[in-house]
Amino acid sequence: MSLPASAVRGIAHELLAEAAHSPTGTVGIVQVGHPVLRAVADPYDGQLDDVTLAALVAVMQRTMRLAPGVGLAAPQIGLPLAVAVLEDPGTADPEIERVRERPVLGFRVLVNPRYEAAGGHDELVDFYEGCLSVVGYQAVVPRLRTVRLTALDETGAQIDEVVTGWPARIVQHETDHLGGALYIDRARLRSLAASDQLGAHWASEPRPVSASRELGFDLA
Ligand code: ZN
Repeated sequence: MSLPASAVRGIAHELLAEAAHSPTGTVGIVQVGHPVLRAVADPYDGQLDDVTLAALVAVMQRTMRLAPGVGLAAPQIGLPLAVAVLEDPGTADPEIERVRERPVLGFRVLVNPRYEAAGGHDELVDFYEGCLSVVGYQAVVPRLRTVRLTALDETGAQIDEVVTGWPARIVQHETDHLGGALYIDRARLRSLAASDQLGAHWASEPRPVSASRELGFDLA
């Protein structure tokens, strides 16, 4: 978007004021249809001072946890800046954990993240996912099983690592937000399920095999 640093600071301070007036210390999550979700976020290059960035990250963490979700990108709170937070408590079902490769993922911050297929790994895996900015639905999205993630963390330290399984899915979903893409852009649309239907029919299935058959969509 290329906003002046003063505009980025202005939005950040409005968000911090909103959080300060909220009993939960959180802010609202922008829903699909808002243009900020379709804009390319500006790279973070020091527009916010360290204290403001840390306060903003804390608001994003609380907002993600309250939702609850496993990731939140700054555009989802109306700030077109390339910052995202991730955290996944995992799943209580050991079979789902195994099939979806979904371990507990500790809280982390990604600044200016990028991902690519990790060398020699272009395998796609299909699972249901949802988005805090597209409330009420989930859909099956083919994602790279393994990616190379490059980013900075909240201290400015370089991240360069290979991520696999569900954490790789979260990295792709959140990084896509920063490029103005939503999971629905990549989803197998015939898999689209309202949350109550997902719960009634498909949520307990570790891999969406019968969903693909009965709803009529392909799997990788
Ligand atoms: Zn999302």
